[in-house]
Amino acid sequence: MSDYVSDFMAMVRAKNPGEKEFHQAAEEVVKSLALVFDRRPEFRKAKILERIAEPERVILFRVPWMDDRGDFQINRGYRIEMNSAIGPYKGGLRFHPTVNLGILKFLAFEQVFKNSLTGLPMGGGKGGSDFDPKGKSDNEVMRFCQSFMTELFRHIGPDTDVPAGDIGVGGREIGFLFGQYKRLRNEFTGVLTGKGLAWGGSLIRPEATGYGSVYFAAEMLGTKNESLSGKTCLVSGSGNVAQFTVEKINQLGGKVLTMSDSGGYIFDGDGIDQSKLGFVKDLKNVRRGRISEYGSKFKNAKYYPVDPKLDYNPLWDNKAQCAFPSATQNEINAKDAKNLLKNGVYCVSEGANMPTTAEGVDIFLEAKILFAPGKAANAGGVATSGLEMSQNSMRLGWTREEVDARLHQIMKNIHKSCMEAANTFGTPGNYVNGANIAGFIKVASAMMDQGLV
Ligand code: NAP
Repeated sequence: MSDYVSDFMAMVRAKNPGEKEFHQAAEEVVKSLALVFDRRPEFRKAKILERIAEPERVILFRVPWMDDRGDFQINRGYRIEMNSAIGPYKGGLRFHPTVNLGILKFLAFEQVFKNSLTGLPMGGGKGGSDFDPKGKSDNEVMRFCQSFMTELFRHIGPDTDVPAGDIGVGGREIGFLFGQYKRLRNEFTGVLTGKGLAWGGSLIRPEATGYGSVYFAAEMLGTKNESLSGKTCLVSGSGNVAQFTVEKINQLGGKVLTMSDSGGYIFDGDGIDQSKLGFVKDLKNVRRGRISEYGSKFKNAKYYPVDPKLDYNPLWDNKAQCAFPSATQNEINAKDAKNLLKNGVYCVSEGANMPTTAEGVDIFLEAKILFAPGKAANAGGVATSGLEMSQNSMRLGWTREEVDARLHQIMKNIHKSCMEAANTFGTPGNYVNGANIAGFIKVASAMMDQGLV
């Protein structure tokens, strides 16, 4: 490790004790940027990366609400306003019991580079709560969302900070949050993205992260004159990103063998086609059930419960050519990465944020497979949120075809920027370096222009 990288990491660890996911995200970025600082010493002198690693603002608040039994409940709410050099803070809200400051800071930090890569004017932010929507009634979720927004509303706005969904925050939650914001502000504005179609949402926003991750994989395969047609694919997760990843793989002629949730995974050797995916969408989005039901419903499919204490994830130990981790952070460790390579996987597109551990990433890079980091591969979601903001500002709505064509073009542009940056800085084919460098240079240049703020 160069002196700069180790000094920077010592500072990050000292200032942010115990926030291991944030340390992991920062270390991955600084290792790539060491290449930039050799050629652009002015960025280092102006301490641009040190400034990016310090959130512009962290908001932490109490969220009291009442459950259906009449008992009082207290959760913690957060919003990290990380960087606004190139536009209003933008990034999702996550509702999950594992949410803490370190996880949200890693997500907000990644978001700064990701949003820059989209080419749209969006800064980076992230927020959420340790509230678990699983097992709660619609009324409980509504009361929680209303209480959460009763504090958050004073910090956000269409030109300040525009939250969206993430794990545990889908169309239902965005609806309740938007309703309360509108009531408190007496304003109908594009303050959240991922809205319903009847009230300012964009077509293709629900599909965008999954579709984008598959478009990115197709671009990577294209560099080898290959396509997704006929490829066998492993997908993890069964939420928003996973569902539309499966849909787009099917549309492009690939075959999806797996999906999962936190209880386990299903393997379907016949492929999870569109009609079986329809079952998963109803199961997860309407009935809010468990993926194990898929194993009982389709006769050639099998459900495997996964013990979280295992030191590997058996889902990644199946033969395939492509992998789309689309559930959560650190779901592919070193052992999983080795299993994927052993099983023939040579194209990995990260739909989730930081689903591969640092050791896993090193194994993929060393093997020189096609590996797209989440900040590039899953940027389609926030890019389409950016398109939703544009439509809201213009007070019009584009057709499905128009939004999808724009999303596709944005993913092609991100792929090209990553390739070019990786080449320019002497690491051709390394999309991790490419994404970090291309995302950083735009934000860094804006920060230089705006002075020490
Ligand atoms: P989601 O709809 O809530 O689905 C999350 C899926 O991952 C569920 O199947 C869930 O299973 C599983 N999961 C969550 N936490 C897990 C854990 N600790 N261990 C095992 N499985 C877990 O969320 P999503 O929007 O699809 O987000 C998935 C990933 O994509 C996240 O990393 C998110 O940050 C990233 N992402 C999302 C977007 C977006 O537009 N939504 C954009 C960019 C990146 P259970 O139901 O059992 O919990």
